Amino acid sequence: MSLLKLALPKNGEAVLINQKRDALTLTVDGFSIVTFDRAGRWIGAFLDGKNYKRGIDNRVMEKWAYRNDDGAKIRQRRDLGDDEKKALAERLYGLAGHVRNAMQQGEALVVDQPAADPATWDGAIAWLGRVSTWNDERLAEERERFLQVYKPITILPPDQYLALVLQITEGCTYNRCTFCDFYRDRPFRVKPIPEVQNHISQVKDLLRNRLGLRHVIFLADANALVAPTDYLVEVFQLINQSFDLTPSDLAASEIAAWRETHPHWFRGIYSFLDVFTGHHKRVEDFAVLRELGLQRVYVGLETGDPALLTFLNKPGSIEQARDLIHTLHGAGVHVGIIVLVGAGGDQFAGAHVENTALVLNSLNLGRDDLVYLSEFVEHPGSEYAQRAARAGIRPLSKGEMRDQMEEMRARFRFDPQNRPKVAPYDIQEFIY
Ligand code: SF4
Repeated sequence: MSLLKLALPKNGEAVLINQKRDALTLTVDGFSIVTFDRAGRWIGAFLDGKNYKRGIDNRVMEKWAYRNDDGAKIRQRRDLGDDEKKALAERLYGLAGHVRNAMQQGEALVVDQPAADPATWDGAIAWLGRVSTWNDERLAEERERFLQVYKPITILPPDQYLALVLQITEGCTYNRCTFCDFYRDRPFRVKPIPEVQNHISQVKDLLRNRLGLRHVIFLADANALVAPTDYLVEVFQLINQSFDLTPSDLAASEIAAWRETHPHWFRGIYSFLDVFTGHHKRVEDFAVLRELGLQRVYVGLETGDPALLTFLNKPGSIEQARDLIHTLHGAGVHVGIIVLVGAGGDQFAGAHVENTALVLNSLNLGRDDLVYLSEFVEHPGSEYAQRAARAGIRPLSKGEMRDQMEEMRARFRFDPQNRPKVAPYDIQEFIY
């Protein structure tokens, strides 16, 4: 990391340029912040009290928060339209151009001497030069490039938002849970190995010079690990040949040095798996994949209440869920369990809380496992919404969902010395 602190006396501005290996962050007067990748695309920003995030597919999400009359923090987000994206890009690139011009025309004073060396200055000028080659039109073309490589990435677990996604399968094998519309636009298919090979090359090309921002590999779409083990072994071997996966036999003390010499290192491979598809695999199957880098599998448990599962039309029993987690743990693979807080509204609330806590408490979850509490999102017109209306179910309010989340947490009885991380999961904040 190298920091450059500048004063632009003409406008009385203070500028901070923070260069890391894979990202440059520019801060003007402490309140306007923008981050660019190595090639010069803007990837994140903070302006006028709002956060902006731009995905690889050139989607831009605006996020902000405020306190309501009761003092509760309300988080809001929305996608920007094309004109708004254009205006934002012009503003961000204008900011970078303004600083670069001031530096080139001798109107920027370095204020933290002797900390900044000439290489830091030259590096910043060169980086801002790359930034100056971008505009809204060029960013929009990125979406086309993205769609030549991927079907839209509709969801990832929160700790995987910065993953390198490999879409080795498309869609969901089932696609009929009443609440889920993530993959309704595509049939399920497993890509043949030559296509996976080609996909890996395309992904590497697309993400060239921004690979260093990503340190985990996620296999998409909904349940990629349902594919036969022999096929998965071939895929995992290809991944190992194509990317620098941190060797599993390194001692903890050796990992930092190894990663220093492998700037595009990856921690391992991650994926979703549903209970009804996962329970066909044995410990030995997952153990082979573990050897080849599989670290954690995310399982959509949704609820521990069998009646609610039926209402959601989600296949797989609670017993199968227990078996699957047990099998994964037996193979040394960690799990991320996803629970739908608020599913089933007022009618299922009591049983949902009680049974979900009972199931989670029985899974022997440890510190390398995760529990995600995801606020239920009801899509108007969905099969879930129609069923709920017929059953007279009242959806929980935001406040009631927060209460339900707290009730669940209060019932969790994990080993205090080895407890899993429990975190909220807002699927509406997902952007890739
Ligand atoms: S919840 Fe999972 S299994 Fe159900 S339709 Fe969605 S992706 Fe498929």
